[in-house]
Amino acid sequence: MKWEVVIGLEVHAQLATQSKIFSGAATAYGAMPNTQACAIDLGMPGVLPVLNEETLHMAIKFGLAANAHIAPESIFARKNYFYPDLPKGYQISQYEIPVVGKGYLDIILEDGSVKRIGITRAHLEEDAGKSLHEDFRGMTGIDLNRAGTPLLEIVSEPDMRSSTEAVAYLKTLHTLVRYLGICDGNMQEGSFRCDANVSIRPMGETKLGTRTELKNINSFRFVEKAINYEIERQIEVIENGGTISQETRLYDADNNTTRTMRSKEEANDYRYFPDPDLLPVAVSEELIAKIKTTMPELPQEKRDRFTKAYGLNSYDANVLSSSRDLADYYEAVTKVANEPKLAANWVMGELLAAINKENLNITESPIKAEALGQLIQRIHDNTISGKIAKTVFVHLWQNEGSVDEIIEKQGLKQVTDLGAIEKIVDEIINNNPQQLADYKAGKEKLFAFFVGQAMKATQGKANPQQLNDLLKDKLK
Ligand code: ADP
Ligand code: MG
Repeated sequence: MKWEVVIGLEVHAQLATQSKIFSGAATAYGAMPNTQACAIDLGMPGVLPVLNEETLHMAIKFGLAANAHIAPESIFARKNYFYPDLPKGYQISQYEIPVVGKGYLDIILEDGSVKRIGITRAHLEEDAGKSLHEDFRGMTGIDLNRAGTPLLEIVSEPDMRSSTEAVAYLKTLHTLVRYLGICDGNMQEGSFRCDANVSIRPMGETKLGTRTELKNINSFRFVEKAINYEIERQIEVIENGGTISQETRLYDADNNTTRTMRSKEEANDYRYFPDPDLLPVAVSEELIAKIKTTMPELPQEKRDRFTKAYGLNSYDANVLSSSRDLADYYEAVTKVANEPKLAANWVMGELLAAINKENLNITESPIKAEALGQLIQRIHDNTISGKIAKTVFVHLWQNEGSVDEIIEKQGLKQVTDLGAIEKIVDEIINNNPQQLADYKAGKEKLFAFFVGQAMKATQGKANPQQLNDLLKDKLK
């Protein structure tokens, strides 16, 4: 039997505000446990939550970027359940009318094709506290600092057909929220979390199969692995005559498995009702128009511009527009050296490799965009070869001066004096009569030997083109 995989994702993006969604308490990460939750976050009797307007603006920004309907009026509801990290017994969320309704995002698949993924809704809600299982000798600690932190829950349609598509969608979303400046996207700190709903059905079937929901996946790699594991598990269960029960499963990264956490709750288990303490949220046309004027260039727009303005292929354009900082860096390089393709190769090659190796942000790069631009300029004007440029790059990275200073100090300037190169070439030919004879007898591979010898003699500084031409001539 051939199976079709169906995946829908629920993503919780923590909104990058200074204060909580319904109170003035700080949202900063990493404070001493239980020092950043106030009486409102804890739902103490008599408190009154007030919506942090910025969270609404951020949600609208997202809605506009996701081509979505923005509700003129949306409602906050109480979702009732008890858990140690939610001592007040309910979470304020949106249920019947979310601020952001139906929309879509386009993702780029590996083969370069575009697929449209439906957005079902995106709603505002508050986060709960955190249970800490380490460091308490078998007991669990509760840290309520996170209670009341603003979240935007973004729910997709079940439109993805493989773990690869799910990851591509997740990355698209991750890039988008950072472009919009509404979420820092830090997955280790839990600012961007994903639950994956997975089901399978016989190929050609139109009815959806029973899904399981996978929780606790906090990296792109784990999303892919968890979904793949779950697909295999479901196929095995069904092919052995069993059925899938709708449940929430926990991904265990250490063992690469998923295991049952709880059977799936239904919406009516939560006894949703409108929060009597919060007014309906009104969004005027004027507010939407005003927020529209603050929208940055979106990832897709930037990608398109990069392919058109710089002649980049879609893969390069995609990588270079994956974050605003990286895109800005690249554009600053091309401003200094008007060599967009060479610049793309250097930024995506040497620079990103060095940045990733040292675990840095592009904004922390010891080589500023201007310096990299100058280096590329020196390749372009034949002062140095591409190979020598890699040596200069290493010195630049160590902060040893400007591009020109390093070239000067290290004596790296390319030898373009034809007479000088000729002298070296003559010497090499004279010193290697055996190789010369073999070459003339048809061993053409030996050409590389002569190039290598000449490069060695010039410490890599011979102009490669001149050297090639000269050798071809002399070895005739
Ligand atoms: P809940 O909040 O209870 O998890 P939702 O109806 O909001 O339920 O759906 C959550 C997610 O599950 C959505 O992203 C949706 O696309 C996805 N989904 C729903 N049915 C299926 C299915 N049969 N297979 C895979 N994903 C599904
Ligand atoms: Mg769910």
